[in-house]
Amino acid sequence: MTVKNETMELKNYVNGEWVDSSALECLDVINPATGETIAKVPVSTKEDVDQAVQAAKKAFQSWKQVPVPKRARVLFKYHTLLTDHHEELAKLIVQENGKAYKEAYGEVQRGIECVEFASGAPSLMMGETLSGIAEDIDSEMFRYPLGVVGGITPFNFPMMVPLWMFPLAVACGNTFVLKPSERTPILANKLVELFTQAGAPKGVLNVVHGAHDVVNGLIEHPDVAAISFVGSQPVAKYVYEKSASKGKRVQALSGAKNHHIVMPDADMEKAVANIISSTFGSAGQRCMACSAVVVVGDNNQFVEALKKKADELVMGSGMEEDVLLTPVIRKEHREKVLGYIEKGLEEGAVLLRDGRKEMDEMENGNFLGATIFDHVSPDMTIAKEELFAPVLSLLRTADLDGGLQFIHQSRFGNGATIYTKNAAAVRKFREEADAGMLGINVGVPATMAFFPFSGWKDSFYGDLHVNGKDGVNFYTKKKMITSRFDY
Ligand code: NAD
Repeated sequence: MTVKNETMELKNYVNGEWVDSSALECLDVINPATGETIAKVPVSTKEDVDQAVQAAKKAFQSWKQVPVPKRARVLFKYHTLLTDHHEELAKLIVQENGKAYKEAYGEVQRGIECVEFASGAPSLMMGETLSGIAEDIDSEMFRYPLGVVGGITPFNFPMMVPLWMFPLAVACGNTFVLKPSERTPILANKLVELFTQAGAPKGVLNVVHGAHDVVNGLIEHPDVAAISFVGSQPVAKYVYEKSASKGKRVQALSGAKNHHIVMPDADMEKAVANIISSTFGSAGQRCMACSAVVVVGDNNQFVEALKKKADELVMGSGMEEDVLLTPVIRKEHREKVLGYIEKGLEEGAVLLRDGRKEMDEMENGNFLGATIFDHVSPDMTIAKEELFAPVLSLLRTADLDGGLQFIHQSRFGNGATIYTKNAAAVRKFREEADAGMLGINVGVPATMAFFPFSGWKDSFYGDLHVNGKDGVNFYTKKKMITSRFDY
């Protein structure tokens, strides 16, 4: 289905068929836990993109005419198929991304929930009417799909992020060209295979593998109406600006630096458990991962408890039992993170736990032990930048205002959490923390598919977030009809 036999080279999926890319070059897809090459992904060209866009453009003409309940039925069927393949999909995620099986299983569930939401297309796509806006005059609003949508996704959620995009886009009547991460491309082929089995006509969902050329091919293509992007901050900004300059509708979800404020009255045991799992789960490679803890007051007890729990973490490959700490995606990424750790030391942070010492024990995988810096100040590089790794910064402050100030100073605003039982502190945090997704005693405050998902500041470029009503608004355009019947 997805690979050429001997070389394990992934194929593109265009117009309902597996096709060879015109790429002259392939990249290795590597299992992060073993260093083993598990497939080769073609670095497709702009010509490949054009073929896929043409197929999607043609399919759009008939797909948009398919009655909405019939389109929704494809999503219902897809939901069943994804549920039937839940374990297989989770295992594929572990293999190419490296995260723990339990996390991967949860990711599949979150993806399935997006399909569940999209299955409600008939209700979601309803317009609005008002009889009698003036004498004998009525107004109606209808929703229509946009056309061909391009989706560009990151490595860290190879299932959930594509499913934030194409099920809803397609349910709304659009056709789609997906460009998965070249580091975790295998799952995308399984997703499109099942979507075809669910009854999606040819050309409705296409997959073009590759890297920058495919992205540029999509954002420059005159027949692509909209771009959904999720990835790192510099690329998100680039994709947003370039797509917008070409007149496209665009949503670009970007990087993060998520602060967790621990108030003195917090349930310390629960706060520690939440922070450990948020920071070190998926090796810190989640846009909602905690990466900076703000310790309010002189709470050394909390810091000691946190370090003790970090000492107890089980590091290993994703299929091993009780594993939480898994490898980072590539050796090059680990090198970059090691550079940040050096920078943290140079700039005066105190290394409370040095995860580098545990790297050698697992030499083939890209492992890095849990690393914790204490007494980090907001102007340090490790406090400002997204490390996307199992590295935590502890910032100290006297009160909640100080904690909110740290959040304020950050260029990112994806998520933030407070641990407290104090209602006044909760309210102040809710009103003043400038981030898009807040947690109250919740380690990963990610919303479900019926709510919009995204951040503020440099964590998001665009207007309409993914999922929820925002998602429906993003993937549809509105038409107003004003009618007079006075004869
Ligand atoms: P990335 O930016 O390296 O890659 C994302 C996509 O962009 C990939 O498909 C890649 O091929 C493409 N790309 C990369 N560099 C490019 C360039 N120079 N020109 C054109 N295209 C390019 O991101 P990643 O490392 O795969 O994913 C991790 C990042 O994604 C983190 O920053 C994380 O915070 C972010 N993320 C954000 C959210 C969110 O909801 N805000 C969710 C998941 C991941």
